[in-house]
Amino acid sequence: MPMSHVQAPNSSRIIPLADLQAQHQRLWPELQPAIDRVFATSDFILGEEVRLFEAEFAAFCHASEAIACGNGTDALELALWAIGVGPGDEVITVPNTFAATAEAIVRCGAVPRFVDVDPQTLLMDVSKLESAITARTRAIIPVHLYGSCADVSAVMEIASRHGLSVIEDAAQAQGATSHGKKAGATGRAGCFSFYPGKNLGACGDAGAVITSDRQLADRLRQARDHGRAGKKYEHAFVGRNSRMDSLQGAILRVKLRYLDAWNARRREIATMYRDLLAGTSVVPVAVPDTSEPVYHQFVVRTAEREALRRALDEEGIRTGIHYPIPLHRQPAFAPYVSVAEADRLSVADATAGQILSLPMYPELADRDVCRVAASISQCRPAARIPAA
Ligand SMILES: *Cc1c(COP(=O)(O)O)cnc(C)c1O
Repeated sequence: MPMSHVQAPNSSRIIPLADLQAQHQRLWPELQPAIDRVFATSDFILGEEVRLFEAEFAAFCHASEAIACGNGTDALELALWAIGVGPGDEVITVPNTFAATAEAIVRCGAVPRFVDVDPQTLLMDVSKLESAITARTRAIIPVHLYGSCADVSAVMEIASRHGLSVIEDAAQAQGATSHGKKAGATGRAGCFSFYPGKNLGACGDAGAVITSDRQLADRLRQARDHGRAGKKYEHAFVGRNSRMDSLQGAILRVKLRYLDAWNARRREIATMYRDLLAGTSVVPVAVPDTSEPVYHQFVVRTAEREALRRALDEEGIRTGIHYPIPLHRQPAFAPYVSVAEADRLSVADATAGQILSLPMYPELADRDVCRVAASISQCRPAARIPAA
């Protein structure tokens, strides 16, 4: 075993926000031979393990193709580029996401346009989508934040009426469903990150695009590998280097077999949190009834976040904030947003100061879920967030 996992048995033991060491310790007997297989061939980039992972991940998502790439940000950028997004275009997304979503849009030369989110689910408010569409709009990126799917069918309906493509940012939602379809499988393409902390995480950077559009898949396969056209030194167009390592492919193949069980355990923990936190000062973020979620994060809203966060920290309970600054307030993206547009994003603005992510990982024990909930119940804040 390459790692040690020392934990004191007392109740002041740290409860982390996530625990990759616990996962890797359990899986090591399977990870070790998978890693050995790659070293035995020295086929380190886009090798057999990546090819097999692509097939297995596509099957898992009920998509016809998966194209592995360097990371989730590249997956988004490659997908946008492959459907023809470029300078002069606008792409609509939400402001309460990781920077990568908007970064990919800007990297393609396009302008991000933000629509506000639903106050209960914090997912794209589809009722506000149509008013953000202009003559320059080319695509829409709904983000399946925290592992709950935005209503992709409703987005698709509006998109097809306006001749727009839908690219799903499914980085946090491997295995979740929207209207019974797997995250990423409804839009023209679905983009995934296998950053170590994601529900399905590599041991380094990795990502993938899924699609059932054969031509798009071929274009993506070439684009991630220098625009190569079959032969090693023939280049059909200027591509880039965004390839998955065979080591990551081998590791992801081992982990993919556990993903459904891990996601089921995350849902179990979420149910416990909901039961135990009912009547306390925190309000869990809602899941739309069109989605079976995978709880990448379990997020609550609280009127006194900093006080609660500090109190939990003193109890050894680690929390996170995803994300503290909405993208339209970031120096990186503010130049693309007018003051009037930013002022319309009031839900994203208001909730950014209230959200708190609680410990959530499949190995989290029931007694630790209870300890987190008990610590929250003991906090008596002066203010509550207004009821729904
Ligand atoms: C993680 C993440 C990404 C980016 O993935 P990387 O692999 O870190 O590049 C994009 N969008 C969302 C919503 C994410 O959570």
